[in-house]
Amino acid sequence: MLSLSDVHVNYGHVNALKGISLQVDDGKIVSLLGANGAGKTTTLKMISRLVKPKKGAYEMDGKSMIKEAPSSIVKKGVIHCPENRRVFPLFSVEENLIIGAYNKRNKSVKQEMEKVFSYFPILKDRLKQKAGTLSGGEQQMLAIGRALMGKPNILLLDEPSLGLAPKIVNEIFSIIKEINKSGTSILIVEQNAYKAIEISDYSYVLENGTIALQGTSEELKNNDEVRRLYLGG
Ligand code: ATP
Repeated sequence: MLSLSDVHVNYGHVNALKGISLQVDDGKIVSLLGANGAGKTTTLKMISRLVKPKKGAYEMDGKSMIKEAPSSIVKKGVIHCPENRRVFPLFSVEENLIIGAYNKRNKSVKQEMEKVFSYFPILKDRLKQKAGTLSGGEQQMLAIGRALMGKPNILLLDEPSLGLAPKIVNEIFSIIKEINKSGTSILIVEQNAYKAIEISDYSYVLENGTIALQGTSEELKNNDEVRRLYLGG
């Protein structure tokens, strides 16, 4: 179980997070929703320790992670799939996947790659192709596949639907659900609140660096403010 309590993050004079508390229970899908600039990406970066909190607590299974380096967060099985996919464009699909296994949590690269292909068969067909020449949807699949190569206990997904056609978004979301069913907890940042709420057990709505609302999917779907602001009425 991962938990943040009263976490503050500043970028110089910008207070990006002003006391965030959240929890990702084992085996659950949790989403972080909210407008541009609300602090969603910063929350994921803080969990990966790519940014330092000014104050607050960060625990995994009751152990403080606040002083850990990004590399030890990865070793604990928290794997970040960043915004805008960030695949290595000049490397092949295969090379990108192998890079995902660099932390050696993964003893059998070949076996894990086969598991990735079971979710994303297209990546097997494109194995020797340079990642930069893949379509946007394929690049997103590769980015998630590369994260899976690190054998995540908790997968942090930043905007997997960004810039993709609705059909591909549906495909990716149903695979996210399958990945979760196989035992990986997921914390997902999404602009597409409707899709995110649909697959999540629990959601948090960020506004201006604070958590404005939270609840189960049922609770949020029936919340007038959420419907008006994020679900199109
Ligand atoms: P988006 O959906 O647009 O990615 P977000 O909810 O993920 O938004 P963040 O990227 O976490 O929001 O940004 C939160 C706030 O922190 C914003 O006001 C942003 O301008 C600011 N911010 C983010 N990164 C930096 C940085 N490196 N330096 C200064 N300010 C930053």
